[in-house]
Amino acid sequence: MNLNKPAIEGGSPVRDTPLPYATQWLGDEEWCAIEDVLRSGWLTTGPKTEEFEAALSAYAGAPHAVAVTSCTAALQLALNALGIGPGGEVITTSLTFAATVFSILYNGAAPVLADIDPDTLNIDPADIERRITPRTRAILPMHYGGDPCDMAAIVDIAKRNNLAVVSDAAHAIGARYAGEPVARFGNAACFSFHAVKNMTTIEGGAILCADADLAGKLRARRFFGIANDAWQRAASDKPWEYDVSSIGFKCNITDFQSAMGIVQLKKLDSFLKRRREIVNKYNEAFSKIDGVLLKKDTPGGVSANHLYVIRIEPERFRVDRDRILAALRAEGIIANIHYKPIHLHTYFMKQLGTKRGMLPHCEAAADALITLPLFPAMTDADAESVVSALQKILDFYKR
Ligand SMILES: *Cc1c(COP(=O)(O)O)cnc(C)c1O
Repeated sequence: MNLNKPAIEGGSPVRDTPLPYATQWLGDEEWCAIEDVLRSGWLTTGPKTEEFEAALSAYAGAPHAVAVTSCTAALQLALNALGIGPGGEVITTSLTFAATVFSILYNGAAPVLADIDPDTLNIDPADIERRITPRTRAILPMHYGGDPCDMAAIVDIAKRNNLAVVSDAAHAIGARYAGEPVARFGNAACFSFHAVKNMTTIEGGAILCADADLAGKLRARRFFGIANDAWQRAASDKPWEYDVSSIGFKCNITDFQSAMGIVQLKKLDSFLKRRREIVNKYNEAFSKIDGVLLKKDTPGGVSANHLYVIRIEPERFRVDRDRILAALRAEGIIANIHYKPIHLHTYFMKQLGTKRGMLPHCEAAADALITLPLFPAMTDADAESVVSALQKILDFYKR
């Protein structure tokens, strides 16, 4: 048997055990923190959530943090609290997860999809500008893979056109732009603590913002429009009294999630450091492989390195990208795609009237993208197995 044949062609696989594209890293500290909450008698939103929010605010460099059940809820609330609703348009990227666009639809506003910058894969500010209409209310940039969007340009466009900026920072906790944490740009930044993200509360999210009035609206909206939650009321003279003062939703985070978040946030810098090390190894190896294009980082940005993506130059290989993904899988490397563009999903095509051909840079990138395994618990040997598997596969299928 030829050892250099890809496993999918009958060769032997590079790995015996599959390597996922992402996974969480938990230690005893998380178990203990959760157990403490379970025994404390206060399970849902309470003192641990206040502590988590204070820690997030300090870490992310924004005066207010409001923790919620998910980044999807965070985006929905942020747009809602900024008064974005029916009749309004929100400009965002198509190279994102469905949550970004659903958060706009939940508010009755219309998503408008702009093309990406093919180098960074982030939304292209020039295309945002072209899509502004008298109905545009907000820009919703998504920091792809944790690499910040061109926030100087986006904030400038927003100022000139009187628009709000809400960032989908699901990938970007720890990212910086122009020397500052990403949460400092725009009206609000929404983070995700879903299990595959840079840090996790299993499910969870938070909105970071500078404006106290906006933070108050967000706090009320996460729990039925009631400004003071049960924990705060428990300490007041009249714990039975509450007032619904605005529209509200049900997306308060629990104290056991917050307790886990406090622990994960303390470990985040070490996670980011390890992600960076692996990215450097990958960059070094893949820059030498023909037919592989690396993503460029945004000038002035420091990425949180949530995803490691490469693009295959399709004309250089005898097979398409999906065959390469299948071949990687046969080697034990579980790669992924981020993302199938929003405008090519059945529901959004129907709802938004979108179709192939609308966003050429996004489509070209999406057809060639591969997300390779990247998570802090990966060993150097894991990273090397990814490199050797890809090298072997691309050599075999080279034209
Ligand atoms: C994960 C993700 C979300 C949603 O986050 P949840 O916390 O799962 O709601 C939104 N946008 C992007 C780009 C994501 O990757």
